[in-house]
Amino acid sequence: MKQYQPENIRNVVLLSHSGAGKTTLSEAMLFNAGVINRLGKVDAGTTTSDYDQDEIKRKISINTTLLPYEWHDAKVNLLDTPGYSDFAGEVDSAVRVCEGAVIVAAASSGLEVGTEQAWSYCDKAKLARLFFINKMDRENADFGKITGEIQAKFGAKCIPVQMPVGAHTDFRGVVSLLTMKYYAGEKGEEADVPSEIKEQATSLREKMVEAIAETDDNLMEKYLNGEELSQEELLSTLKKAIADVNIFPILAGSALQNVAVNRLMDVIREYLPSPKDAGINVSEDSAGKDIKISTVGPLSALVFKTSADPYVGKLTYFKVFSGELESNSQVWNVNQNNPERIGQLFIIRGKNQEPIAKISAGDMGAVAKLSITATGDTLGAQDKPVKIAPATYPKTLFSVAVLPKTKADVDKLGSSLARLAEEDPTLIVHRDPDTGETILSGLGETQVEVAAEKMMRKFGVAVELKAPKVPYKETITSAAKGEYKHKKQTGGHGQYGHVILELEPMPEGGDNQFENRVVGGTIPRNYIPAVEKGVHEAIKEGVLAGYPIVNIRTLVMDGSFHPVDSSEICFKIAGAGAFKKAMADGHPILLEPIVNLKIRIPGDYTGDIIGDLNTKRARVQGMNPEGNYNVVDAQVPLAEILRYAIDLKSMTQGRGSFSYEFDHYEEVPAHITQKIVAEHEAEKQKMAEGKA
Ligand code: GDP
Ligand code: MG
Repeated sequence: MKQYQPENIRNVVLLSHSGAGKTTLSEAMLFNAGVINRLGKVDAGTTTSDYDQDEIKRKISINTTLLPYEWHDAKVNLLDTPGYSDFAGEVDSAVRVCEGAVIVAAASSGLEVGTEQAWSYCDKAKLARLFFINKMDRENADFGKITGEIQAKFGAKCIPVQMPVGAHTDFRGVVSLLTMKYYAGEKGEEADVPSEIKEQATSLREKMVEAIAETDDNLMEKYLNGEELSQEELLSTLKKAIADVNIFPILAGSALQNVAVNRLMDVIREYLPSPKDAGINVSEDSAGKDIKISTVGPLSALVFKTSADPYVGKLTYFKVFSGELESNSQVWNVNQNNPERIGQLFIIRGKNQEPIAKISAGDMGAVAKLSITATGDTLGAQDKPVKIAPATYPKTLFSVAVLPKTKADVDKLGSSLARLAEEDPTLIVHRDPDTGETILSGLGETQVEVAAEKMMRKFGVAVELKAPKVPYKETITSAAKGEYKHKKQTGGHGQYGHVILELEPMPEGGDNQFENRVVGGTIPRNYIPAVEKGVHEAIKEGVLAGYPIVNIRTLVMDGSFHPVDSSEICFKIAGAGAFKKAMADGHPILLEPIVNLKIRIPGDYTGDIIGDLNTKRARVQGMNPEGNYNVVDAQVPLAEILRYAIDLKSMTQGRGSFSYEFDHYEEVPAHITQKIVAEHEAEKQKMAEGKA
């Protein structure tokens, strides 16, 4: 593939509800561009885009795939994204490096949640976009209906620039309202508009002309004065309006039958903006730095994706914003403030890599085995370091505990999880200091399941996923006293330690306290640290269900010692023993974390959401309308919302979102405490049997 100037490049992301046909469409586009000579099928697992084993198995896209092709003197970097919301991070990365989007919607299913989400991705990134109404060959395909839905939802600036000819089994091609020609069949052969739809096409063109004229004052004046607009000024105004995010053309076709796909490719080539037409978003700390989208000048390239390739290892995807990146060169990683060696560069297409000498401004490529570079970093020049703003990713909302299956898996767990987190910025791994579990957090259940499968396949690590343990705590509700005498006579000299202590409940939030109140040396001073050590160890494992103890003050009051038999270890044992007795006597309770939960839902779901919250021991604290949405604030025990990402998705068809943060600890209701204690006992029993 040759080098292209920025004005001859199009970086285009395909967005849609899962299943609308993006991957099938990308396959048809590659076929039409002559990149492949056989059309693969999603259902047969043979497409260029869904080549990953996880994708073939599930018949859905999981990763963003880069699929460059050449079309009429232009290079198009097509990015096929997953529609499934668990993999939203992949979409964020793709949107960040594109200047245009094709939102695919299925004519047979109408507007879907994923269509709305696609739109809001584009809005957030101020991306030029067009609609491709796919599956015109399907039963119930209704172009007029879905166009109406799109306009009702996103406004009248969404305007058909094509009209399908026929539908379902009779779908034959499209009439372009721009050229007033009929493009028939797979080849898109140009013909006259069929007479039976001429009138309708003329009226649709009139609407389109009006919508285009509305974006330009001069044109509008001419239009209102009844003057004829030249084809040239109409098309150039349309092009500008698309780049200005002022008009959104609607096209039609069938990806599966490959009908009208090449017209879509023409429109992408002609009307979507090039990198040259778009600005560069730099990071806050690089604001004001001079950087242009041009092949001359210092290098600035943003790393937007990292993957673990089975053959070449770590593979880094980048987009060059300015200058050129050359094979076998040294660059400056601006974020890490360190040099990075660049080996052979590749043009990447699905799983295929083609070596290339350099990649210049506006274009994308990949390089293997970088040592310090991570997704989001900018590769640049040391003397002119500019940080390009990376994509922002959604916060993780769903967590599982990752439990290795065997000893060998334990050893490889950390490193393989780190590799997965490197690939997916929406996967976060951490160790919960309270429960000691390794926690994997992401956006949804499918995402973490795919991650677990990848660990097995790529790194040979077998794991089990479980709901994370809730970090309960224990405390006492009344002051109590405990006494323990550790006394043993074994052969030579014996063991002796004797501690009397008192426990007092303390307010939430402070550290546990320890005080020595012994008078008259009944416990000699030098043994007090040993007593404290014993108490500390006992604090780590409560008396009810083994959870750490909080909010208490320990007062060592009295005791006794033996001049020969006493030792530090004896007082440690006596301290722990006295503490446990006092705990058991102080009416111990379990405490659970309570979080502040914020839920954002379309207004009509409010009733269902509140009803569900009532089954989750939540206290609703407020409800505020925000446009068509309602924001519900509630306090709820963490234990009740471990699967809320899944619950909310199913209650709102994916339209709701939520976030939460820890607020405080509160007493667990008695009936739930009983259950937790019983589970703890059962687990202890199992462990004991396992050992025996
Ligand atoms: P994606 O999730 O948006 O990538 O959608 P896919 O390309 O994976 O397609 C989902 C399903 O719709 C597959 O079974 C495709 O064969 C089917 N499909 C895609 N495009 C068309 C089309 O134009 N017509 C028909 N009839 N089916 C299609
Ligand atoms: Mg797909």
